Amino acid sequence: MLNETRKTGSKTNSRRILLGAHISVAGGVDKAILRGRELNCSAIQIFLKYNTRWQGKPFTQQEQTDFFKNLEDSGIACVLAHNCYLINLASPDDVVYQKSLNAMLDEIERASKLKIKHLIIHPGANLGSGISQGIQKIASSLNLILEKSSDKKVCILLETTAGQGTGIGHRFEELADIRNRIRDKKRIGVCLDTAHIFAAGYDIRTRSAYRNVLKEFDATLGLSCIRAIHINDSSKPLGSRVDRHEHIGKGFIGLDAFGFIMNDERFREVPKILETPKNPGDKYDKRNLRILRNLVR
Ligand SMILES: [Zn+2]
Ligand SMILES: [Zn+2]
Repeated sequence: MLNETRKTGSKTNSRRILLGAHISVAGGVDKAILRGRELNCSAIQIFLKYNTRWQGKPFTQQEQTDFFKNLEDSGIACVLAHNCYLINLASPDDVVYQKSLNAMLDEIERASKLKIKHLIIHPGANLGSGISQGIQKIASSLNLILEKSSDKKVCILLETTAGQGTGIGHRFEELADIRNRIRDKKRIGVCLDTAHIFAAGYDIRTRSAYRNVLKEFDATLGLSCIRAIHINDSSKPLGSRVDRHEHIGKGFIGLDAFGFIMNDERFREVPKILETPKNPGDKYDKRNLRILRNLVR
């Protein structure tokens, strides 16, 4: 009991909340668990390989064994994966597109080896080929990927985007359009990024604004689609369509919105992950996590 309190925060009702940060996998995925534990995370997000490379070395047997060993008694109840930034399932370039398909299958394989249930992806950028063409391409790629990995349990979560450049997924309707085209809907969900939706124009700063945005999400995709939340403030204003994460309470979103999310019963079981600026000593993550835990009533 004491142990559990130490690991998940001192407030009694914050104990069950799945809260943590994106954690570095430098030195191996097993090391990420130790880092997450240091931060008292109950949930973490990791990359499954260097996020700027198409291919990664396979996990060694030792790395896998240590990953599971470190996870035991770590207080981390949920590990999420984020795909590598190079992948673009909407790319009109055949070479990039093919590499993206292969990389996605590899990421699913890696997630599966670590028994990770959710892989978060940025839907893709159409790079001038148009939104509907991009949406069609993403959906058909996902159908192919899900079919080719039908023996795996990994679910793909489409992340809401800021709408920078030709990126798809800054409107809930675009994500719904993709989702509606997916045959195996059990393996597709959404990751809501607070900084991205705010930059995309969804205002969550007051209670009524927050309610309205979620109502809109519910009407478009259904709230049950939300399987993860990226909890970031934004250093760019509402509707800027620029993706810049800021420390909790220090950006244009402000603290109130994070209070609404942290206390929203509908998201009680949904892991909430910080992707705010880092520094080598984890000082910022610690402070942002403390602020979020303190918002829980
Ligand atoms: Zn992301
Ligand atoms: Zn995010």
